[in-house]
Amino acid sequence: MEEFHIIEDELGRKFKTLRLSVTPICNFACEYCVGGLETHTGKTKQYNTKLDTFKKYVYEIHRILNLHKVRLTGGEPLLYHEISQLIRILKEEIGIPHVSLTTNGSRLEKVASALKQSGLDSLNLSLDAIDSAVFYKMSKRNRLDEVIKGLQLSLEAGIQLKLNCTVMRGFNESQILPLLEFSGSRKIPIRYLEFMQMGAYYQNYKSFLVSQDEILSVISHKYKIRELGRKKSSTSYEYETEEGYLFGIIANESSPFCKDCDRLRLDSKGVLYGCLSSNHGFPLEGIENLREVLPSVLQKAIFQKQKERFIGSPITMISVGG
Ligand code: SAM
Ligand code: SF4
Repeated sequence: MEEFHIIEDELGRKFKTLRLSVTPICNFACEYCVGGLETHTGKTKQYNTKLDTFKKYVYEIHRILNLHKVRLTGGEPLLYHEISQLIRILKEEIGIPHVSLTTNGSRLEKVASALKQSGLDSLNLSLDAIDSAVFYKMSKRNRLDEVIKGLQLSLEAGIQLKLNCTVMRGFNESQILPLLEFSGSRKIPIRYLEFMQMGAYYQNYKSFLVSQDEILSVISHKYKIRELGRKKSSTSYEYETEEGYLFGIIANESSPFCKDCDRLRLDSKGVLYGCLSSNHGFPLEGIENLREVLPSVLQKAIFQKQKERFIGSPITMISVGG
């Protein structure tokens, strides 16, 4: 990696984390993501972007930005046919210091040890309920048992794990405490996400939003909480209970974190986005002199970032990458 460029905006923000969406397909139909609609299923093959294509894009981006981290996401990234090979390429051939992955956990049981062997550094497991009826209500799938087995096998494989729970009013706010106790007793940190104004709920998300204060209030009724703060460029405000249960809140609405955001997104069709709010990406496919053009594309992408707060997007996270 011989050629780093200064790509930054007027707030001094730089891209240091790449979220790479490896596929837009998914085997769940989560309420907050696709409104429970089965609009996202499709023939897997059609979406199988080649490993070499991802390799080329990430290599060229890293050459310019000196990335600290790549997070693999989707859609469901464990449906990508060569996910372990991709992780190995990112770590060994491109030299990305930290490679992580966000998954719904449905295929973890089968691939946990392969993921560890390929060099995966950490994993975020989306778990919105520990009660099977609520799990179904959120994901439209009866697959909680498989997800819990996958979690267990990931821990046994030595994968560093965090849980993510997106909270929606009328759906899973009953799960805030049970999930804290489930994760805390296993020494796994959990983060609660405020529902974001995206996709299916773009027009009417407010009535489903459970705020940071409400989440804290539910937890502090039972537990004494200590604030640990927010690390630079992190999305999460961290807390600890007296028992040592670690939890965070990603409060996109209540406590926006745009001012030091370092995230860049690349979707599975090779479209770059500098901000989740932006509906207009920069397609890389078909650019012949990518190496020459990419610095100016990245400079344009960084100007897409919001100055203060996320303003919503009609695009769903399943396509742009969560
Ligand atoms: N399929 C994988 C999964 O579910 O973990 C990875 C992709 S999914 C789009 C990643 C994350 O996006 C989900 O865990 C969820 O937290 C988040 N997400 C999707 N839509 C959201 C919304 N409207 N508000 C908040 N978070 C959302
Ligand atoms: Fe699929 Fe993840 Fe979206 Fe749920 S949140 S529908 S698991 S992409």
